[in-house]
Amino acid sequence: MFNVVIFGAPGSGKGTQSDKIVEKYGLVHLSTGDILRAEIAKGSEVGKIADGLISKGQFVPDDVIIAVLENAINEHPQAKGFIFDGFPRTVTQAEALDSILKKKNIRVGVMLNIDVDQNELVKRLLNRGKTSGRSDDNLITIQERINVYEQKTMPVIQFYDKQGKHVRIKGTGTLDEVFAQIEAAIDSRIS
Ligand code: AMP
Repeated sequence: MFNVVIFGAPGSGKGTQSDKIVEKYGLVHLSTGDILRAEIAKGSEVGKIADGLISKGQFVPDDVIIAVLENAINEHPQAKGFIFDGFPRTVTQAEALDSILKKKNIRVGVMLNIDVDQNELVKRLLNRGKTSGRSDDNLITIQERINVYEQKTMPVIQFYDKQGKHVRIKGTGTLDEVFAQIEAAIDSRIS
């Protein structure tokens, strides 16, 4: 069992790199953003809570998203490991993830922090917005998402740094150049 937290600002390439990790290592990809968008499409209770918050670039409350994540983990009892994408986004969520995994006698193996500068993030997200159909890929919401990331999510880096699990990945360059750094980080930690 090897679990990866893939971390970074909106537009840093977490989803794209997660697909490559799935392909090479066979881990189960859990994206809380994807799960919430599916809940919205279903019109579930969680979807109703998430809908307005997502389009404003704000977070779903910690207790709601922690329950969503725990359920998603429990749906995959046979997993060789997980990639947590878009979670944890607050220190409270990072603590909750540790305790959820501890109950199962497993842990986070590495936290990959994909680092991309702000101008590049905005450019990528505006470009994605042309085709993504996402309610949050517009300039005003993109700026709010980046602000919220800096205020609430960046402290999560320290959390994993203290545990010796934080690895900075240079997120500019080709997909393969970024993935090569990810492979090196995983391969040096996986047993
Ligand atoms: P993403 O697809 O990861 O960019 O997530 C899209 C949106 O879903 C975020 O801007 C938040 O509104 C919400 N969301 C996803 N994951 C979380 C989380 N871990 N905590 C709070 N809100 C989240």
